[in-house]
Amino acid sequence: MRVLSVLLGLSALAAARCGTGNPSDNVKAHHKAFQDKEDREAARSATRDVFEATIDTYVHVILTNSTHGNSSSLPDQISEQIDVLNENYQKTGFSFNLVNVSYTRNNRWQAITDGSTTEYEVKSTLRRGDYTALNLYYGTIGGGILGYATFPDDVSEQGFQVDGVVCDPQTLPGGEAPYDLGITAVHEVGHWLNLFHTFQPGNDDPEIPGCFGHGDYIHDTPAEGFAAFGCPKRRDTCKGTDESNNDFSVPGDDPIHNFMDYTDDICLTQFTAGQIRRMQSSWTEERAGYVPSGSRVSSRRARPGSGWGGSGV
Ligand SMILES: [Zn+2]
Repeated sequence: MRVLSVLLGLSALAAARCGTGNPSDNVKAHHKAFQDKEDREAARSATRDVFEATIDTYVHVILTNSTHGNSSSLPDQISEQIDVLNENYQKTGFSFNLVNVSYTRNNRWQAITDGSTTEYEVKSTLRRGDYTALNLYYGTIGGGILGYATFPDDVSEQGFQVDGVVCDPQTLPGGEAPYDLGITAVHEVGHWLNLFHTFQPGNDDPEIPGCFGHGDYIHDTPAEGFAAFGCPKRRDTCKGTDESNNDFSVPGDDPIHNFMDYTDDICLTQFTAGQIRRMQSSWTEERAGYVPSGSRVSSRRARPGSGWGGSGV
């Protein structure tokens, strides 16, 4: 599918790297509140406690007769994937504790497409743990998409069930170049911890095009007009007033080495301090201690009508 995507041009390519949908208005509103809070803390020069969070991680491998016939290398690849997550999140205070790996062979689960009935069936059958547990599914997504994730949100019981990350098995370490170093999972877990793409909202948002607006709601990531592929050094898609007028940006070359861009695995090496702080803020506020709305008496997040979160449906 990746070869075919090259022929279809940039928009198709953009869809292929990551299928995570645009964040809901609710999720974006949370980011504005987080930024205000973080700015107030910075203004007070508040000393933050050392942040540490261990994320219980459940890996679910979906096997079908027509795909992944040879699965003998999967246990080693999954072990390497957890190592890759821990190495690349080392500076963030997050670590990943692999609790269990499940293997399920089901020929009706050929494609775990975002928003599909199959997605719901797979996840509601296999999901483990609470809202702080990472459920990482490996199965074919379809459409050439390598991975997608849900953002933390005021989820309903249904949204709780679909919470997690889905990646194609070819993105595991030792998979298919140039996405064969396990960085797709690093990127998707970034979404799961509430990071947007550095090029958010990209060129596909009719209200806020390209370099303007709120971008990714993080102050220290340079504005980026649209996703980068390969590893295009000194790329700069947003210049001049586009960039300097943006409150949620800093001038500079595009952040092609940022895990939340779309470049090749070997090109992706960093989160910014602002992104790290946002993941930590969001974790404390939105995942730790969360119980889905249908199963608790009261909470400020248990509002009626809260939907499917950031699953991009
Ligand atoms: Zn993404």
